[in-house]
Amino acid sequence: SASQVPRTEPALPQGVSRSTFVKAISEITQTLGTENVELNDKPAVDHGWYMEHPNTHDMMHVTDPEAFVASAVVYPSSTAEVQATVLWANKYRMPIFPISMGRNLGYGGAAPRVRGSVVIDLGKRMSKILYIDADDYTCLVVPGVSFYALYEAIQAKGYDHIWIDTPDLGGGSAIGNTLDCGVGYTPYGDHWAVHSGLEVVLPTGEIVRTGMGALPGSNTWQSFPYGFGPIQDGLFSQSNLGIVTKMGMALMPNPGGHESFMYAFAHSADLAPLIEIIRPLRISNILENVAQVRSAEQTIAVQGRPKTDFYTGPGMMPDEVIEREAAKLPCGKCAWVYYGMSYGPAHIRAYKLDIVHKEFSKIPGARKIDPATIPRDNYFWSRDNIAAGVPDLEELLWCNWTPNGSHVAFSPVSPIRGRDAEALVKLARDRRAEFGVEMFPAFCVGLREMHLIVEIVFDKTVPEARKAAMDCLRAMIDDAAALGYGEYRTHLALMDQVASTYSWNDGALMKLNERIKDALDPNGILAAGKSGIWPKRYRGRGWEM
Ligand code: FAD
Repeated sequence: SASQVPRTEPALPQGVSRSTFVKAISEITQTLGTENVELNDKPAVDHGWYMEHPNTHDMMHVTDPEAFVASAVVYPSSTAEVQATVLWANKYRMPIFPISMGRNLGYGGAAPRVRGSVVIDLGKRMSKILYIDADDYTCLVVPGVSFYALYEAIQAKGYDHIWIDTPDLGGGSAIGNTLDCGVGYTPYGDHWAVHSGLEVVLPTGEIVRTGMGALPGSNTWQSFPYGFGPIQDGLFSQSNLGIVTKMGMALMPNPGGHESFMYAFAHSADLAPLIEIIRPLRISNILENVAQVRSAEQTIAVQGRPKTDFYTGPGMMPDEVIEREAAKLPCGKCAWVYYGMSYGPAHIRAYKLDIVHKEFSKIPGARKIDPATIPRDNYFWSRDNIAAGVPDLEELLWCNWTPNGSHVAFSPVSPIRGRDAEALVKLARDRRAEFGVEMFPAFCVGLREMHLIVEIVFDKTVPEARKAAMDCLRAMIDDAAALGYGEYRTHLALMDQVASTYSWNDGALMKLNERIKDALDPNGILAAGKSGIWPKRYRGRGWEM
């Protein structure tokens, strides 16, 4: 494999000769400045940690670390410099790959799909919050604005009346996460649903603004997402059709009180009836946030302790050990734990929480855990932060489960139905047993659908562990598709496979995607292969995996 010989030179993109690469890099250096172009001449061995991650490769690589690496990283400081970079890429047929902050861990991190691409790290120099409108509860951000930065800016301005929504880790980019249809845990958790207006550099260098942003002088860009139509925004989400340089987003009003709650359910078989109870409560907004229904094993792992603290025998941790260890935690002996939050003043919360209690108590053995009994260092309080829009990093702790802990996610979506929950968990657990991988399933329940996020945790330094994770994922994707389930998001290495499962009517959707790709990106320079969409000059030439 490529990584057996440590690399001392940049991995050149296929089809670009060394001399063309050198000439091209010299030209972009003149445009952006020497300090804003970095060659990647070191092997992909330095993986840093979440807040100081590499932007040249995936720090949680599930493939050979050299499989997806950048040849260079460039740092534009403005939309005009992004445009100049795109024009440069077209001139040299240089593959480029934009990242906002590159913390897309579990899905490829900062790595490009095509080895040797030039990564455009937008976030490093484009990190200013353009505005926060404290009357309209909207903001306009650029790629380097993280959830932490947005939160801190709102605190610094003393805007107590405004909340943000954050994913489980707050270090990601509001733009990067939203474009990947990321999820947070307040009632504003569907980030794409609360975005309003994009500014985009197209693959041929034109700059467009979507929605009301197309009307010069409009003051409604961040308030009305649709404009006069057609709504083009979707083209730029989970795609490779443009580089987003600005995005508007709605912010949440402080609800005037909030209260986290946790219920433990004793048996695996409680999952289906629980999901049936959740559905009407969620649709009618009695359950108000994107809550999580987590497996007991994830609750054990999120203490940040390695698996060997609990079990040193062969294979996966047996069910009786899971039960025994969960019993030592505030959740007590359980198979599933529900973490939710109720919003509003005390009397409003009491009204909703009474209904929730009555309904959840229909499951024999269901227990509400009194927050007053939960120690402050327990993970419950991290969920309490997140559901109140306060960024946090605790979620990383379950990566300590294995040495050199990394993770990769299997993320199918389904309606909020007990039988779907059961089918998906069974599918994952059957494959877990077959491939001997460690995994933590958790449901994130949206308004009418739920994401099952199955985190596979593995030691990235062990090739067999990486292979088992990949083989297991590939099998689960096929199993899910055979049952009619699709993933909402996936790792770079699996994008072709996942895209191929969306095959209705002889692959009509991908044919449309390819026509749009070829029209907008005739030279095929932008993020080739991302989301399974290959431009003409790559198609059918062995790039798909
Ligand atoms: P980036 O890595 O910058 O970008 C994400 C993707 O969008 C990339 O494919 C990139 O090519 C594309 N892109 C980025 N910017 C642009 C642009 N300006 N124009 C065009 N394309 C662009 N995610 C969740 O959603 N919810 C969670 O709760 C969550 N929990 C996590 C927990 C753990 C422990 C870990 C490790 C990860 C978790 N993630 C979660 C996944 C991930 O960390 C976040 O989604 C993170 O926000 C993505 O990284 P980023 O924001 O830096 O985006």
